[in-house]
Amino acid sequence: MSFENLSLHPTLLKTLKQKGYEIPTPIQIQAIPEALAGRDLIATAETGTGKTAAFVLPALQHLIGLPPRKQNGKPSILVLTPTRELAEQVNHAIRDYGKDLRFNNLILVGGMPYGPQLRSLSRPVDIIVATPGRLLDHVNRRRVDLSALKILVLDEADRMLDMGFIDEVEKIASLAPKDRQTLLFTATWDNKMSQLAGKLLSDPHRIQLEPQNVRKNIEQRLHVVDNVDHKNRLLQHLVGDEIVKQAIIFSATKRGADEIAQQLTASGFPAAALHGDMSQAARNRTLNKLRYGRLRLLVATDVAARGIDVSGISHVINFDLPRFAEDYVHRIGRTGRAGATGTAISFALPDERIHLERIERYTGESVPRHIVPGFEPKLVFPSQGRKRKYQSAFTPTRHKAPGQHKFGGQRHAYSRKKQTVK
Ligand code: AMP
Repeated sequence: MSFENLSLHPTLLKTLKQKGYEIPTPIQIQAIPEALAGRDLIATAETGTGKTAAFVLPALQHLIGLPPRKQNGKPSILVLTPTRELAEQVNHAIRDYGKDLRFNNLILVGGMPYGPQLRSLSRPVDIIVATPGRLLDHVNRRRVDLSALKILVLDEADRMLDMGFIDEVEKIASLAPKDRQTLLFTATWDNKMSQLAGKLLSDPHRIQLEPQNVRKNIEQRLHVVDNVDHKNRLLQHLVGDEIVKQAIIFSATKRGADEIAQQLTASGFPAAALHGDMSQAARNRTLNKLRYGRLRLLVATDVAARGIDVSGISHVINFDLPRFAEDYVHRIGRTGRAGATGTAISFALPDERIHLERIERYTGESVPRHIVPGFEPKLVFPSQGRKRKYQSAFTPTRHKAPGQHKFGGQRHAYSRKKQTVK
């Protein structure tokens, strides 16, 4: 599946290409065609799934070819978000994805001075991104008119409800035309959300990204690493163990895949790269070598590795942690095929903790942390503000100094059992 298959306008396709997006994420595959077809949509998807592009791209496409707006403060698209930060992020995405299109967008959020907002409202506008309270404030003072709205997006609707914005959201929706399109994105689903959706949407298409289970015959491990050099040294140590029969090593980039393969080969561990810049014939040759056991180490990118079904793969090594949780599950599913057991090892830099947490939320399980003696990380994940759901991710299975484990600047009791990290 590519972006070309999603009926997106060539200008948007060009922008996505420039941004280096190769394939749409699952939420984009499911949401974009429905949104372009004008349907109401309920999507249960978290941040980190690519959900912003899933509604921003269809919204931008809607504007292409429309005559320029003449009236001030009368948008055709409104995105409601619970917080100022999210509004700024969405506004940024709109500018980014729409950089080659002509339209006006503005942002109206609480806690910010009125002056710049009033100035921006003195011009015609196509897209408004807003938090509910401040938007209603402007609507009540007749600076914003929602009577020409075509698309209403509720982003992180569950957080808007948690923050007590339900009356504001309902009021805003009631001021928009009934035949508008409504796109609702939420990370969670409960009765309250169902009631709100029942009131605001008509015959919605539902998209639910189910957490995907990791097969039970795959052992997962996480190694925190300090930098690329640490990754390279640890990788060579791991593949030096003969328990690794065949491994796929995942790199975030094509260049990285080539470099890792070259370094491994130079260190006495023959390896080949597999990525989209290679000719189909070269890719087939490499895959056949892997299939017939003539290649032990393959360094691949996500796109190239999709669908590899080779029963001899004993290990998957995420040299770079995947950006999307779905990719993690796809990647590690390359091992443990045909009833065999498999090991999936991931390297994570300290600032990649948030990616790890997304993966754990998505799979519903923690990735146990391992430390190889001699390869201890200097840095550890920074401490976390909220309570973890998956504590055992930070329970090392081997550690130089059992009894105490330094984590986030605080010391926590070390145990092999799950423990609460406050
Ligand atoms: P979101 O879930 O919307 O917050 O997106 C998470 C991150 O993924 C953002 O940094 C996006 O720029 C990026 N992103 C969204 N879609 C894609 C894609 N198809 N390929 C690569 N990156 C993407």
